[in-house]
Amino acid sequence: PARPLAGRVALVTGASSGIGEATAVALAGAGAAVAIGARRRDRLEALAAKLRDDGARVLELDLDVTDEQACADAVRRTREELGGLDVLVNNAGVMLLGTIVGADPEDWRRMVQTNVMGVLYMTHAVVDGMLEQGSGDIVTISSVAGRTARKGAGVYNASKWAVNAFSESLRQEVTARGVRVSLVEPGAVATELSNHITQPEAREQSRQMAESMRTLHADDIARAVLYVVGQPPHVAVNEVLVRPTDQE
Ligand code: NDP
Repeated sequence: PARPLAGRVALVTGASSGIGEATAVALAGAGAAVAIGARRRDRLEALAAKLRDDGARVLELDLDVTDEQACADAVRRTREELGGLDVLVNNAGVMLLGTIVGADPEDWRRMVQTNVMGVLYMTHAVVDGMLEQGSGDIVTISSVAGRTARKGAGVYNASKWAVNAFSESLRQEVTARGVRVSLVEPGAVATELSNHITQPEAREQSRQMAESMRTLHADDIARAVLYVVGQPPHVAVNEVLVRPTDQE
């Protein structure tokens, strides 16, 4: 099989389920060494065992992306133990949908700290090294919700709009120095994401929406990430928006 990413090292945040897990599998399948970070250690170990069985080099990282020091440590360990860091996939995220009126601000803090500050901390931790080596990919999993605001998704929308702005600004800052900065923006994907919604009506709406269509699979998004990072050095895919065919 072709191994277009042989010799490259990737770090995927939120690799314990869903899109992050599928992305780690896809990157490893393309020949990359992969560092897999998340909070649920048991899930990471199961994934690492599977990847190692398939011949990949893997590093499990206890990583809470809301912890700046943990982000810096994850990047340092990846460089030390896997010998470099060429691809960061900022995937960890939470989607605590609900109306703004009546919301629990704790949901807002979790979304802003994970979806926004997590991306900022991880990006900060990798970017200097990538600039020094004159190459690298920083791919952030944003969302359709980063392009279109909707009633009942306000703060999730705000968190994804924030990373879209951050990513585009960083792209302009570093692209001429060889570091590619990209956004992958999924529509509805069947994962654990909506299980954590705290507002009951919002959780029910999310379930009904998923049942009303053929949703994407995590692997559909992993293929988009592979497409982005597999381009030759002179090609930068800035943004990929992938919806289920059935989603308006
Ligand atoms: P999952 O809930 O399956 O995966 C989320 C991942 O993020 C888990 O691995 C979780 O691991 C990790 N995570 C959450 N909080 C933290 C944290 N503080 N530190 C480190 N890791 C964390 O959902 P998805 O795969 O769907 O979500 C992945 C990304 O895709 C998110 O950014 C989401 O916004 C985005 N997305 C998803 C869509 C969908 O429809 N599913 C649509 C558009 C975008 P753990 O709990 O072990 O830490």
